Amino acid sequence: MNTLSQQWELDSIFAGGSGSKRFQIFLNELEQAIQAVRKQLEAQKTPFTRQDVQPFTTLVERYESLCKHFNEAAAFIECLTAQNIKDQAAAQANNRMHSLGAELDAVNSLFETVLRQIADDEFQTLINAPQLHAISFSLNEKRTLSHKKLEANQEQLISALAVDGYHAWEDLYYQLIGKMEITVVHHGKKEPMSVSQANNLLNDADRSVRQAAFQALESAWSDSADLFAAALNHIAGFRIAEYQARGWDDVLDEPLDYNRIPKQTLNTMWETVTAYKPKLSAFLKRKAALLHLNKLSWYDIDAPLQTSSEKISYEEAASFIVKHFASFNPNMASFARNALENRWIEAENRPNKRPGGFCTSFPLSGQSRIFMTFNGSTSNRSTLAHELGHAYHQSLMNDLPYLSQDYAMNVAETASTFSEMIVSDAGQAAAKTKQERIAFLSDKLGRSIALLMNIHARFLFETRFYEARKAGSVSVDRLNQLMTEAQREAFCNQLDTYHPTFWASKLHFYITNWPFYNFPYTFGYLFSTGIYVQALQEGPAFAKKYDALLRDTGRMTTETLAKRHLGADLTKPKFWSTALDYIIRDVDEFLALTSSNN
Ligand SMILES: [Zn+2]
Repeated sequence: MNTLSQQWELDSIFAGGSGSKRFQIFLNELEQAIQAVRKQLEAQKTPFTRQDVQPFTTLVERYESLCKHFNEAAAFIECLTAQNIKDQAAAQANNRMHSLGAELDAVNSLFETVLRQIADDEFQTLINAPQLHAISFSLNEKRTLSHKKLEANQEQLISALAVDGYHAWEDLYYQLIGKMEITVVHHGKKEPMSVSQANNLLNDADRSVRQAAFQALESAWSDSADLFAAALNHIAGFRIAEYQARGWDDVLDEPLDYNRIPKQTLNTMWETVTAYKPKLSAFLKRKAALLHLNKLSWYDIDAPLQTSSEKISYEEAASFIVKHFASFNPNMASFARNALENRWIEAENRPNKRPGGFCTSFPLSGQSRIFMTFNGSTSNRSTLAHELGHAYHQSLMNDLPYLSQDYAMNVAETASTFSEMIVSDAGQAAAKTKQERIAFLSDKLGRSIALLMNIHARFLFETRFYEARKAGSVSVDRLNQLMTEAQREAFCNQLDTYHPTFWASKLHFYITNWPFYNFPYTFGYLFSTGIYVQALQEGPAFAKKYDALLRDTGRMTTETLAKRHLGADLTKPKFWSTALDYIIRDVDEFLALTSSNN
C-alpha cells in the first residue's frame, strides 16, 4: 500500500474542528428539536389506537431522527476530545453534550410511556403497519421494558435523583483514580507513576519489575480501599433499591435484558466454560514451568515469553489486514482499503491523544472514524483490525432504519473480534521459528485466560457481592475476601498469589449505565469464535451469511440471531463447546511445542 495519512479527516463532517460554526448551529438546532419532540410527547394525552398509524408514524420518525442527530453530534465530540485532551473548546462542547443527553433521557422515558399506554392489540396492529414493520422489534422491546418499570413520573424522579445519587459515584471513582499516584521502585529508584503506567509494567519481561509494580499497585488500592468500598456500596445500594421498587428480584434481570438473552443462555455459557478449565489450567501450569516457577502469581499471567522488538510500519500493517480480510470476505477488504485511504483513521503517535482505541459512527453521514495510536507493534495491528471490524459491522446496517441498528453489547464485539481472529491466525501462520510460535501462542492464550478466567472471576465476585449487599454495606475485608474466593475458583487454584483489591482497581464495577459489564466480553468472544469456526468450515460461501448476521444484530434477540444465521441454540452447550474446542487447540499446540521431549 502507498503511503497513508495517519491523521483522520473530520472536516467533511463538521468543518473547523472544535471551533466549527456549523457544529454550533447543529447543536442549537438539536436542542430545539429535543424540546419540540418533548412538547409533542407531553401533549399526547390519549393513547394511540390502530386508527392513528399516520400520526404515530410521524412521532416515531421524529424521535428516530432526534436519536440520529444526537449521535452524529456525540460522535464528533468523541473524536475531538480524543484527538487532543487539552482542547478546551472540545471539553466545553462535551459538557454541553452531557446536558443535551440528560434532556434526551427525559424524551426517551416519555416516548416509552407513550408506547406503554397503547393497548396490546392496538399496538400490535400499529407496529405491523408497512411504515413501521421494519422497526417493530425495537418498538416492541422498548414497550416491553417500560412495562417492567414504574409509572413514568416515578421513573423520571429516579432518573433525576440518579444524577447526584448514583452516576455521581461513578464520576467520583474516576476522580479518585485520576489523583492516584503509584510509587514504584523501578531500577532501584522510587518513581511516581499513574495507574496505567504502573499497570503497563505488569507485562514486563523482568519478574522483579512486575512484582514491584504489583505490590505498589496493591498497596495504593489498599490505602484508598475505604473510599472505593464506599463508592461501590453506594452504587450497588442505589441499584438494589431501584430494582426492589420495580419488583425485580434478580440483579441479573437488567443486564440480561440489555443483552437480549435469557438466563439459561448465560448459565449454559459459564457451565461450558467451566468444563474446559482443566485445559486452561494445564496452560497456566506449563507457563509457570517455562518461567521456572512452581505456580504463577497474579502478576505473571501476562508475562511475555519472549520480548519482540520487531517493528512494522503502518502501511505494512494496513496491507497485511487488507490481504487477509480479502481471503475471507472481499467486501471486508475493500471496505478496509477505503477507510484507510479516505482517512477514516487517526493513528498518529503524538502527545496529548487519549490512550486506547475506539470506533465511532456518524449516522447522518453514514461514515465511521477509528481512533488509536500506532507505534509499530503487532498488537497495534490487531487493534486496527479490531476497530475496522466495528466499522465494517456498522457499514452493513447504514441503510436500515436507525432504530434497527441498535445492537446489544454482547454482540457489539462480534465483528471486531472476528477481524482480530483473521489477522491473529495469519500472524500465527507467519511465525518463522518455534520460539516465535510459542511466544505468539502464549500471548494469544493470555487473552483467552483473561476472557475465560479473569472475567469469570469478575462475574462470580459481582453476583456474590450484590447478594451480600442486600443485607447491608459490605466491608473492605469482606470485599477482599469475596474477590480472592472468586479468583481462586475462576483460576482453579492455579495461582500462587491473587489480587484481593481487584474490585477497587477495575472500573467496570463502577459503570452505572451498564450493570454487570463483565460477561458480555466473554459472550462476545465465544460467540465470535463460534462464527469463526463455522466460517472456516464453510469457506468463501460463508461471507454472505456473515454479512447477513451482522446486519440483523440490531433487530432481533441474540437467540433468534444465532438460530437464524448459524442454526445454533445458545441455551444448549453445543455451540459454546465448538468455540471452546477451537480455543483449546492452541493450548494443545502450546503444550506440544513446549514439552520437554520436543
Ligand atoms: Zn471493540
